[in-house]
Amino acid sequence: SKADGRGKLKVFEPAMLHTRQMRNQLVGELKEAITGSQLVLYYQPIIRLDTREIEGVEALVRWNHPTRGLVMPDEFIPIAEETGMISDLGGWVLRTAVGQLKQWRTDPLTSGHNFSMRINVSAADLQRLEFIEDVREALASAELDPSLLVLELTESAVIHGNDLDRYTLNSLRRLGVGLEIDDFGTGYSSISYLRQLPVDTVKVDRTLLSALGSDPSQPALLAAVLQLIRACGLAAVWEGVESADQAEYLLSIGCTSGQGYYFSRPLPEEQLTEQLKHHKTW
Ligand code: C2E
Ligand code: CA
Ligand code: CA
Ligand code: CA
Repeated sequence: SKADGRGKLKVFEPAMLHTRQMRNQLVGELKEAITGSQLVLYYQPIIRLDTREIEGVEALVRWNHPTRGLVMPDEFIPIAEETGMISDLGGWVLRTAVGQLKQWRTDPLTSGHNFSMRINVSAADLQRLEFIEDVREALASAELDPSLLVLELTESAVIHGNDLDRYTLNSLRRLGVGLEIDDFGTGYSSISYLRQLPVDTVKVDRTLLSALGSDPSQPALLAAVLQLIRACGLAAVWEGVESADQAEYLLSIGCTSGQGYYFSRPLPEEQLTEQLKHHKTW
């Protein structure tokens, strides 16, 4: 295995996936993982930059592989998408995340916090009419207000979307769940789309923030991006906040929400529960 730049090990070498046999093995293993409870959700806080309270958590899936250890989503989400397993995987993520939020809101030791659950939705989910029903059912069985669930959708999914995608998005919106454009600034966005899409928030990709400090033109660019989002009537969440300077800069230009290693890495459920019990702010 080799390092992938984030200090994590790649357990599935790209070259390995080129042999059909290895790929078939991986596909079979992933199928087992989805049905055999080898998937696990980590949760990363989203922080209100002025009060430092937690306003959301993003559920991020990992595969706890019996021999390979913790496998990161970039290594298996694409395969799940190509093979159609993503709808089973996405269904599991939805039910698990919503159930977890219910638990945090019910436990008196954690219910003092008020935050939403955010999950990543694949483009393939918007192509399934049942997805709307899945979301409705998950929220109903947990007896949660739909506005407590925010669906993160990548730009490419919503912007290159077809009529069915639009129908799904509008139905989800009528249900009352929050909709957010994810990975904003990585390529597809245009001003007209930001205005037309039925979304409430935009999550700015961490690549925009990572150049802050080294590139003198970056602060002005970030402020302009924020203004653009605001002018479209949307709220912004900034991803990839890794330092106090970045958090302070974002607050100084009027950004109110941030997420990143500076506040917290994605944590297993038990660890975030401990944090919630003992911390009011981050
Ligand atoms: P994403 O939606 O853009 O998620 C943010 C990624 O950035 C996460 O990587 C997170 O751990 C990482 N991150 C958070 N804060 C920082 C920071 O301060 N610095 C840096 N360098 N990175 C940070 P992760 O967990 O490996 O997830 C990768 C991608 O996999 C996600 O990107 C998302 O597109 C996809 N993904 C994760 N979980 C799911 C899921 O349940 N369903 C679907 N369809 N996709 C998922
Ligand atoms: Ca996301
Ligand atoms: Ca991103
Ligand atoms: Ca992404």
